[in-house]
Amino acid sequence: MATQSKAKFLTDVYTLLKRRYKPKADRSSAARLSVLKAVVYGICHEATTREQANQALSRFHDEFFDWNEIRVSSLEEIQESLAGIPEPAERARRIRRFLRQLYNRTYGFTLDALTKKPLKEALKVLQTYDAFQSDYVTATVIQQALGGHAIPIDKDTRRALERLGISEPTVAELRAVLERAVPKNRGGEFLDLLEDLANDTCVEGEPECHRCELRKICPFALARKHEPAESTTPGRAAKPRAPREKDQALRAKDAEATPPSPAGHPKKNTPARAARPAPQPPKPRGKPEAK
Ligand code: SF4
Repeated sequence: MATQSKAKFLTDVYTLLKRRYKPKADRSSAARLSVLKAVVYGICHEATTREQANQALSRFHDEFFDWNEIRVSSLEEIQESLAGIPEPAERARRIRRFLRQLYNRTYGFTLDALTKKPLKEALKVLQTYDAFQSDYVTATVIQQALGGHAIPIDKDTRRALERLGISEPTVAELRAVLERAVPKNRGGEFLDLLEDLANDTCVEGEPECHRCELRKICPFALARKHEPAESTTPGRAAKPRAPREKDQALRAKDAEATPPSPAGHPKKNTPARAARPAPQPPKPRGKPEAK
């Protein structure tokens, strides 16, 4: 798909998804997160819903005195705030690792001076932290804290995009395509809508295309619609193939009427031959016996 047609296609996707899912609050007026919170939010949000990630941030706020207390807590204690989120142990480890790296370098818990620097410069500093090995966390921080244009992509949104025919070899390349096609002022809302799609109908395994707003433009749904019924509906009993069965019955009848060939195979379409008379024993030669 050419860049221009990708942009047009993604605009159609945006319009249709907006129609289905409730419009979100005006994101341009939404308060930015601090860099630190955006890192923790990114770690919590990858492959989960934003509601789950927000809940985790609230629990950290309610259950710990401050970020330093999280830094010195056990992984088990941190995991408790991540209840309901997949892979809580790994996420707890990454959060604590980031807080420890930050404290060891700055003796504090703020990185907000970076928001005043040019984006490239700020990223150069941030990418020295292990948490930024994740492209999802990097994009979340750019979008939520640094005021740049980024659309974080996780495995769920990537799956939906691939079914929609937007695929690239790496997440970074896919993100670059999206960021060119979707303008910055729509980036946040586009991401929310894409997440809603991935968690609602374009789920892992079997997508629920019949109730998806995109089914008329989605290559995956259109291809499935044109597949033969037998392959799209496993388990449906195949229709009886009467002509074929009739053929087999006729062939069986022929075989009965036809004697086997010398090789043991019945000859087709050969009328049955009259049986030859059995050979007679040879007559004894010499004089006839005297009576
Ligand atoms: S039509 Fe189906 S495959 Fe396409 S985006 Fe919707 S749910 Fe996903």
